[in-house]
Amino acid sequence: MTTRLLDKSSWIFDMDGTLTVPGHDFAGFKRDHGIAESQDLLSAANERSAAGRAALLTAISEWEAEVASLAVAQDDARVLLHALQERGCNLGVVTRNTREHALTTLKASDLLSFFPDERVILGRDCAPAKPQPDALLMVLEQWNVPAADAVMVGDWVHDVRAGRLAGCTTVLIERTVKARPEWLPHCDHVIDDLRALIA
Ligand SMILES: [Mg+2]
Repeated sequence: MTTRLLDKSSWIFDMDGTLTVPGHDFAGFKRDHGIAESQDLLSAANERSAAGRAALLTAISEWEAEVASLAVAQDDARVLLHALQERGCNLGVVTRNTREHALTTLKASDLLSFFPDERVILGRDCAPAKPQPDALLMVLEQWNVPAADAVMVGDWVHDVRAGRLAGCTTVLIERTVKARPEWLPHCDHVIDDLRALIA
């Protein structure tokens, strides 16, 4: 499996929790802002009145900025990115964070040098957020490569759903949350260490 995956020319990564150590206390933030545990933040914002929505989006953004500035890379992510860079692969990031926070995060965690083309670092302000595949398709178009030659790697169901919808091979990396049964139809591979891809 890994040989075939390593033959892929193009790799798109989720950022928070996949490339970086999870720094967001989602449960605490949701509790503080009256959001149900089961609901994602962007959906919660969309259900509020215009004023409530703006206030919640501001709170999310301030929280994300703080976490971004303290970001730390996952060791296995750094090893995989280095190996892929050596192979001359295209490397991109699609995050549900904002593009500005993505740049801050990658800089703080010393990962930005793996992504020299900042046009393929996309956030929720660049296209409809994952699980929509739009941002992934924009990255593939930028590289001018077919989805069949691309891999999407992430730690949450939104990542593999977006990857599947875009036509990429999908890899779920299990970090703090294990793959749930309902996620498996969207996953081509489930691993618990990114180094497994180059073993
Ligand atoms: Mg993530």
